[in-house]
Amino acid sequence: NPTRLGAIRDIEANEAPAAFFDVAEKTGAIFGENVFSLSVMQKRLPKSVFKSVAATIQKGEKLDPANADIVASAMKDWAMEKGVTHYAHVFYPLTGLTAEKHDSFMEPVGDGTAVWEFSGKTLVQGEPDASSFPNGGIRATFEARGYTGWDVQSPAYILENPNGNTLCIPTIFVSMTGEALDHKTPLLRSQHAMSEQAQRVLALFGHKDIDNVVSYCGPEQEYFLVDTSFVNSRPDLLNTGRTLFGAKPPKGQEFDDHYFGAIPERVLGFMHDTERALFKLGVPAKTRHNEVAPGQFEIAPVFEKANLASDHQQLLMSTFKSIAKVHGFECLFHEKPFAGVNGSGKHVNFSFGNGNQGNFLNPGDNPHDNAQFLVFCAAVIRAVHQYGGLLRLSIASAGNDHRLGANEAPPAIISIFLGDQLQDVFEQIAKGGATSSKQKGVLSVGVDTLPDLTKDAGDRNRTSPMAFTGNRFEFRAAGSNQTVAAPMVTINTIMAEALDYIATELEAAISAGTEFNAAVQSVLAKIVEQHGAVVFNGNGYSEEWHAEAAQRGLKNLRTTVDALPEYTSPEALKLFSTYGVFSEAELESRFEVGVEQYVMTINVEANLTEEIAKTTILPASVRYQTELASNVAALKAAGVEADTTDLVAVSELVSALRTSITELSTAQAGAHGHEGLAEATYYRDAVLPAMLKVREAADALEAVVADDLWSLPTYQEMLFIR
Ligand code: ADP
Ligand code: MG
Repeated sequence: NPTRLGAIRDIEANEAPAAFFDVAEKTGAIFGENVFSLSVMQKRLPKSVFKSVAATIQKGEKLDPANADIVASAMKDWAMEKGVTHYAHVFYPLTGLTAEKHDSFMEPVGDGTAVWEFSGKTLVQGEPDASSFPNGGIRATFEARGYTGWDVQSPAYILENPNGNTLCIPTIFVSMTGEALDHKTPLLRSQHAMSEQAQRVLALFGHKDIDNVVSYCGPEQEYFLVDTSFVNSRPDLLNTGRTLFGAKPPKGQEFDDHYFGAIPERVLGFMHDTERALFKLGVPAKTRHNEVAPGQFEIAPVFEKANLASDHQQLLMSTFKSIAKVHGFECLFHEKPFAGVNGSGKHVNFSFGNGNQGNFLNPGDNPHDNAQFLVFCAAVIRAVHQYGGLLRLSIASAGNDHRLGANEAPPAIISIFLGDQLQDVFEQIAKGGATSSKQKGVLSVGVDTLPDLTKDAGDRNRTSPMAFTGNRFEFRAAGSNQTVAAPMVTINTIMAEALDYIATELEAAISAGTEFNAAVQSVLAKIVEQHGAVVFNGNGYSEEWHAEAAQRGLKNLRTTVDALPEYTSPEALKLFSTYGVFSEAELESRFEVGVEQYVMTINVEANLTEEIAKTTILPASVRYQTELASNVAALKAAGVEADTTDLVAVSELVSALRTSITELSTAQAGAHGHEGLAEATYYRDAVLPAMLKVREAADALEAVVADDLWSLPTYQEMLFIR
């Protein structure tokens, strides 16, 4: 087929040379080159101003508005030296994407001339029209005003573009009445709430200089690279990010020959370029490797403060998208771009700590003896057990529904994996007190020349949604397309509640005269007793686990539609309002946006399924059917016995395809009249299955229709040619 062959032919032309790293280059000349970082500020700001801004960044203090003009002016000078003429307030609306509104530094002065100007006021606050962003009914469109405000803890940076560089200022985005219309605002609020409660606990442990506590986040990002030429001839990939059709390739991922394999040359070029761009932006892009599925890869930056990590994550995704295009690739972040091979997730590694007391989830060599660690770890156990539904909600999306629980990603049931060592310590606690920790072993590999390797105290568990991995927890259920802000908001807030509970219990026990260690043992034992049901070290992919989890009373919110009502549950309202993270109106708005996004996603997919089936797959199939029919007729006319097997088989599939298209069309029409969650439920239960039926018939046809008639690039081509 000319379309497909053309796409394959174009691939060589799509290769682009990559910029390589030069070891002679000073690291400082790359890393953070385009960031208005603390070190740049130190050089460019008056001492007193710098001190005040640094305190805002490091200790979470309020920015002194008197300094804003000075910071803005220094920022403008720095940016203009790098060829910047425009600035943008960058924000993170509920679409999950990144939004930016650009303004010029150029300011007319009234006499027909202009000056370059950037005032403190325009640095700190912006006013984009909010009417085109999802708000879930928080404002009527006539109250379109939205405000952006600089998150001082996330540094300004310069985004390079051949057509002009822009100074970007990471901001929150709120309505005129102060309600959050974005993901950053609740993240900052939740960070604050968690910090307050963590500091109470630290104080009980006798710490003196207690700094602001932060959550750290290290997101591992999985993605696919597919050649642009293929994507351009696949309207489904182009418009929805996933293939709505496609027969299984003869070879999939069963050989395990891609994971950690040698990185293909052209992909390595893409990786070098993205890393270089990210380093310039101060994003610590550290680890890269092939993933399990063919065409799938992973990048893991080093962990950072959650709000910074979240901004960097968004920046990473947009950088990947644009640099992929330079290399003739489309970077796919969809959770399940290809049926039958693994989808992509985002592992949200998190921990808590501060500069003075370090990482609170670091168990040390003897966790049983590390009461402070055990308290924080127990807080995670309580938090995850009480609010598993909210964690599930925080990663709910139409795309992620295809992946969760599909034997490649953890199930929708939220449980915790502690590993042997901690499991044992908590069992001892339940029995009255922990007195020993299983020790790390030495791994003897039987090779004389190798030193003994140290073995971790606990193994990994790939099937758990929330696994302890040595000095952090890894929330593995997030989808690759999602912002990490949403799960981090939930993690911070549920931790605030758990730490609040623990601090309150300890304070009460101490004032009743209980000795501190005894009070700690007692609160830990209580948590194990009440919340131990969430700990599960077994295989999360197994069927038995579903049954056992139900017995344990753990929620199993299989789909987004099941999870969305968690937003407006009484527990959610109580939790989020107590800690000042979401008001009732904000929760309702998020619920509505969630429903809306779900419905829109499936509606677009259904429209495309119908269109592609009608205009591409059916015509190709009918042509083939006609070819077979003419063959049979010609044979008969020639007096030769004609075998009609193929014709009959194709005809059956063609009519199955026709029927399924009609059914999908009817199912789509039936959506009218449903509203809110009922509409989402309808899309899940009536439209999605109808789409699948069309796909079944189409994929069966792909396996039999003559290859030269088939114009959609195949799975085999998209996954293996690069
Ligand atoms: P793996 O694939 O084995 O889980 P990776 O090296 O791919 O590990 O990714 C681990 C991620 O966890 C990285 O982003 C890393 O920076 C992050 N991480 C490491 N320590 C912490 C920590 N204390 N808190 C949060 N994230 C962490
Ligand atoms: Mg990991």
